[in-house]
Amino acid sequence: MGNPESMLLTASRREVLRWGLACGAAGALGPAARALAQQDVAGRDALPGPKLEGLARHPAMFWEKLPDRKVKCTLCPRECEVADVERGYCGVRENQGGEYQTLVYGALCSGNVDPIEKKPLFHYLPGTTAFSIATAGCNIECKFCQNWEISQFRPEQVESTLVTPAQLVRACAGRACPTIAYTYSEPVIFYEYMHDAAALARQQGIGSVMISNGYIQEQPLRQLCRQLTGVKIDFKAFSETFYAQWCSGHLKPVLATLETLKEIGIWTELVVLIIPTLNDSPQEIKAMSKWVVEHLGPDVPLHFTRFHPTYRVTNLPRTPVETLERCRQIALDAGVRYVYAGNVPTHPGENTYCHACRQELIRRVGFQVADNRIRDGKCPRCGAAIPGIWSQEQALAFRPRA
Ligand code: SF4
Repeated sequence: MGNPESMLLTASRREVLRWGLACGAAGALGPAARALAQQDVAGRDALPGPKLEGLARHPAMFWEKLPDRKVKCTLCPRECEVADVERGYCGVRENQGGEYQTLVYGALCSGNVDPIEKKPLFHYLPGTTAFSIATAGCNIECKFCQNWEISQFRPEQVESTLVTPAQLVRACAGRACPTIAYTYSEPVIFYEYMHDAAALARQQGIGSVMISNGYIQEQPLRQLCRQLTGVKIDFKAFSETFYAQWCSGHLKPVLATLETLKEIGIWTELVVLIIPTLNDSPQEIKAMSKWVVEHLGPDVPLHFTRFHPTYRVTNLPRTPVETLERCRQIALDAGVRYVYAGNVPTHPGENTYCHACRQELIRRVGFQVADNRIRDGKCPRCGAAIPGIWSQEQALAFRPRA
C-alpha cells in the first residue's frame, strides 16, 4: 500500500476514499498519518446516543427528478446529477430508486463543547461555549483542510454516534451551552439535520451558528437562515484560480452567498486562512478587503488566521506572524473596522478595539476571554455601538429580512 504520508500527498480524492475503505476506517491510518490528521478534529465525548451501525438515511431536501431514475441535487452549486444507487460528490447523499436521501441524518462523528472563540466568532456572545458537532463529508476539497480526516471521508469510514435533534438540544441544554455550532467538516452537506436541530433549538432558547465554506445555493440558504442565529464563512482566497487549484471549487458562488447573507441581515464573520505564497499577496488581500467593505459593509469582522502544514500541503511553513500583521493592516487601511490575527495566542491582533476611539474592548488569550468591557453592546469610553450579538435575547430575536 506504500507510505501513508506520501500517498496522501499524491492521491486523488477518489483514491483517498478508496484507501480509507481498504483500511476499514479512518482509525486504521498509521500513527504518523493519524497525528497529521488529528490537529483539530474534535472528539465524540460530549455526544449522547448509541454507536451508529450502518447509515443514517433520511429524505433529502433540494433535489429534482430526472429521466431514468436519475436525480439532480440543488443544495450546493455543484448540482450533481446522480444515477440510481450512486452518490453525489460529497459522498453523503445517495439516489435510491429515483429518490434522494441523506445518509448522515444524526450521524455525528464529532461532538465537543468549544469556546465560541474557537469557531472563530469574536462578536457573538464572547466568553460563552458552543456545543459543536459534525458528520463526515464535504462538498469541496481543500488540500490544506485541518479536518480532512472527517471531511474527506464517507460516513461508513468514520465512527459515528446516532443523535436525534431532540437528544442534541437536550445535551446542549444540559451543558448550559447557549449555542449549537455546526462545524468541523461542512454543515451544508448535513443540511437536513442542521435545519431540524436548529429549529428545535430555537424553540428551546438555544441559538445555532453555521461554520461553513459558503458553498450553498440561495434558496436553501434563505430557508436555513430562518432557524440560524449566526454564520461564519471561510473565505479561502480572493481568486478563482486558487479555488479551482486548491479547493476543487469556485469563488463566485461564495461571493453570492456572502451577498445573500448581507441581504438577510444575519450576523456574519469571515475567516481567511493565510497560506504562505498561495493566498497572501498584498494585492489580493487589498482587493478582498475592498470587496468586503463595498459589498458587505465595514462592520463584518475579518479574521486572518495562521496556517499549519497539514493534509496535502505539508511542504509550506507556518504563516509568519508578520504576514498576518501585514494582512490585518491592509484590511484596516481598506476600511474594515474589526480585523483580527488568529491562531497567534496573546497577539494584540486577537483583541477587539472600538472602531471609533480605539479603546481595547475585549482582551483574549487564545480562545479565552480575559476581559470584556463592552456594556449593552457599547464602548464604555465613547459610547459607540459595537456591531455584534451581545446577548442571547438579541441572538434569538433575529429574523431574516424579507
Ligand atoms: S450537496 Fe453534495 S450531492 Fe448535492 S450538489 Fe453538493 S456535492 Fe453534489
